[in-house]
Amino acid sequence: MSENIATPIYLDHHASTPVDQRVLEAMQPYHTEHYGNPANDTHQVGRDAKAGVLTAAEQIADAIGASSTKNIIFTSGATESDNLAIRGPVEHVLQQGQTPHIITAVTEHEAVIEPCEALEANGVDVTYLSVDEYGRVDPDDMRAAVREDTLLISIMAANNEIGTVAPLEEIGEIAAEHDIYFHTDAVQALGYLELDVEDLGIDLMSLSGHKIYGPKGVGALYVRRPKPKNDITPLIRGGGHQSGLRSGTLNVPGIVGLGKAVELATANRHDRVDHVEALRNRLWDQLTGQLDELALNGHPDHRLPHNLNVSFRGVNNYLLTRELNQNRIIAAAGAACSTAEEGGTATVETSHVLEAITDDEERLESAIRFGLGKETTADEIDYVADTIADIVPKKRRIQL
Ligand SMILES: *Cc1c(COP(=O)(O)O)cnc(C)c1O
Repeated sequence: MSENIATPIYLDHHASTPVDQRVLEAMQPYHTEHYGNPANDTHQVGRDAKAGVLTAAEQIADAIGASSTKNIIFTSGATESDNLAIRGPVEHVLQQGQTPHIITAVTEHEAVIEPCEALEANGVDVTYLSVDEYGRVDPDDMRAAVREDTLLISIMAANNEIGTVAPLEEIGEIAAEHDIYFHTDAVQALGYLELDVEDLGIDLMSLSGHKIYGPKGVGALYVRRPKPKNDITPLIRGGGHQSGLRSGTLNVPGIVGLGKAVELATANRHDRVDHVEALRNRLWDQLTGQLDELALNGHPDHRLPHNLNVSFRGVNNYLLTRELNQNRIIAAAGAACSTAEEGGTATVETSHVLEAITDDEERLESAIRFGLGKETTADEIDYVADTIADIVPKKRRIQL
């Protein structure tokens, strides 16, 4: 392995990212100096903490085109943001004795799918739209699914497994036409796509710190308020923080880090996109140049620039990632959270996203997700491609 490659080679940026040094530096004083409670602004220590939170809210509002910092609710991460975005409006309506209808897609993250399934037990009707072979929902299907009682549409901006980007603008138009809440999980998209909540007609948008070189355990939900006929019931009640939408003392250092990470992600978006896209294409070109029977999972054009999800026909993806690991290459087989060990044999639960785009078992079982990052280098990509080109034919011979 060449000398100038730092190990391990981390190509799992859809699962998490390292904290940017500038983010870490921004956070640091909020642990040790500005440690006050931002709710106690009667003294300077509290006011300093509050100012840090306000700056973060401004950074996020600026990045997504929100008109006010009041629209930014801080959470423990995008899982909580997704739950609040879905359960909040729905439970408000349930409390009034109505059972609303919601529309989402089969390829959504578990943080969207699971709350939707739980709400079905309360009588809420959920339409799970299917997607095309590239993982995209069809706006015409969306239009056809809208009903009189539809309260909310939840469609992710970009998929965390195959990187497919949704037709957000069309969906936003449909939602606006029918006065329906439009929620989007934009965790994977921020820093890679232009995400203006006004242009896209987004009412609710989930963000996470640790997918964009920020800290773990902190996220945000953009909330457009007030909606004429609806409101949002909080999941977490207490001291009435954040307009009562999410009580609890704010995670000030985390929030400051999230704000900085969002600012950097959007300020450097074009450079970052160019960098990862060139390397991602280089990886694909080198793989297809050296190997046959590869399938690209995801949309050829409407796809995140740092995502490459490939099926290596005839090779078990879990065994391949294990071997890549031994070569100090980190990539994901299926979804990051679906790896299970059963009775000593390793199995990977098939990804619900891949199952939505193909029923070809071999393609499902041989899919590897590469998630590139801003620190990924061309040398690393060349090494990864060469290593895979070496391993895959051997594995194919053994497994035949
Ligand atoms: C990681 C991820 C989440 C969950 O975010 P956390 O901050 O880890 O809770 C939600 N949605 C998508 C698309 C993700 O990639």
